[in-house]
Amino acid sequence: MTLKKIAAIVMAPLLVFALVGCGESAETLTMGTNAAFPPYEMVDENNQIIGIDAEIAAAVAEKLGMKLEIKDMAFDSLITAVSTGNVDVVLAGMTVTPERMEAVNFSDSYATGIQVVIVPEESVIASIDDLAGKKIGVQSGTTGDIYCADEFGEDAVARYDNGALAIAALKNGQVDCVVIDNEPAKNFVAANEGLKILATEYAVEDYAAAIAKENTELLEKFNTALAELKAEGKIDEIVGKYIK
Ligand code: GLN
Repeated sequence: MTLKKIAAIVMAPLLVFALVGCGESAETLTMGTNAAFPPYEMVDENNQIIGIDAEIAAAVAEKLGMKLEIKDMAFDSLITAVSTGNVDVVLAGMTVTPERMEAVNFSDSYATGIQVVIVPEESVIASIDDLAGKKIGVQSGTTGDIYCADEFGEDAVARYDNGALAIAALKNGQVDCVVIDNEPAKNFVAANEGLKILATEYAVEDYAAAIAKENTELLEKFNTALAELKAEGKIDEIVGKYIK
């Protein structure tokens, strides 16, 4: 056996030991989201997921001494992903609802969302009542989807995987309007000519992070970190960066 080999054999465990020893190698906090919901989550030109939720989660992770990893998936698979442990937490402009609370726990709320209606500028739809008998585009599994299907019937609703696809359907006349949260609505209307948002608000909601029912330890830590971030003005700072 060469000296080099002996050295390698002796050193290998030492090296492992050293790595473990200084191994405050940060634990990972895995966040699930649907990154087509600006300004809460979207993909930038470098293929990074940015937005209010991504930054709040990163700030919480930093407080917990954890490293944030973000997984992008369909909105309607997020609750399952977090309740089965595929992700630790969901931040997705997600509204707290009694139905979702049967499957997951929610953190304290960090923002308000409002369901609004987007129509073509020349639309005859002027208020919520005018939605009766119309085709309504929604993002599958969202509160907008649930409210509209309840109020106007399953057949009235056309479901899309995300807001951008619902807007595309509105632009080519497949639906008469889109019901979606107000901040993404503003972004979509700014990016697409000929659309407007009705002045009437359909529903006012609270956004919060979803965490698996059994993971009460993370829920507590998350809420503590969130409260600190609110007190430090950090949440307002993040929101102010994206919502002018
Ligand atoms: N706030 C809505 C909901 O929770 C929509 C969220 C989203 O599309 N990302 O259903």
